[in-house]
Amino acid sequence: MPEYKVPGYAVVTGPLGGTEEWARQAAITSGGALWNNGTYVYRNVRGTGENGTRGVISNHARGVAMDLSWRRIEPRRLGVNNGRIKALTWLNTVLDNWEVLGVQCVLDYFPEYGRGWRVDRVGTSIPKNHAAEAWLRYVRPTLHGAGGGDWFHIELRLGMASNPEAVKDAFNRVFGKSTTAEQAPATVEPTTKKGGKRRAGTDRPNPNP
Ligand SMILES: [Zn+2]
Repeated sequence: MPEYKVPGYAVVTGPLGGTEEWARQAAITSGGALWNNGTYVYRNVRGTGENGTRGVISNHARGVAMDLSWRRIEPRRLGVNNGRIKALTWLNTVLDNWEVLGVQCVLDYFPEYGRGWRVDRVGTSIPKNHAAEAWLRYVRPTLHGAGGGDWFHIELRLGMASNPEAVKDAFNRVFGKSTTAEQAPATVEPTTKKGGKRRAGTDRPNPNP
């Protein structure tokens, strides 16, 4: 079973290039359904360290975490129509290729109490790594901001988070070399289907939308 390594990573003093590139590639390969709503920040996990309680340092402070939003904000040219559906399709492809893309953890704040995918829950018996078995759906308040939250929190392994070239190569392997645009298309629809390892007709709908 793969190991969840992020809690052992050091806190860093600024953004890591690989994480920044990963967020950029996510925006491009999702056809603009996802946009970068924040990577590096030095702070505690939300809801901790208040009222005299001990804070828990956020993995955003380790430089390996990002928040990607699928919300459409038309005046700012962010997101697309039906952004969550498109973002979930993208996420399934990402999770089926978690090893190539260096994914360690994904938190989805939309379902009530949220849900979490973590690399140490991926077992050899799981036919698709995006399948329900790899997700833990929380049944009591666990994630601060869950229940209608319009973003995914994604964590990377450090080797990826610190290597922008490795990130580009990984996305090219999974999604095909579709674009090298600096700016992700924010509101335009993708003109081509994703390439890479994705095969039509093999994806089941996610049972935990
Ligand atoms: Zn986050």
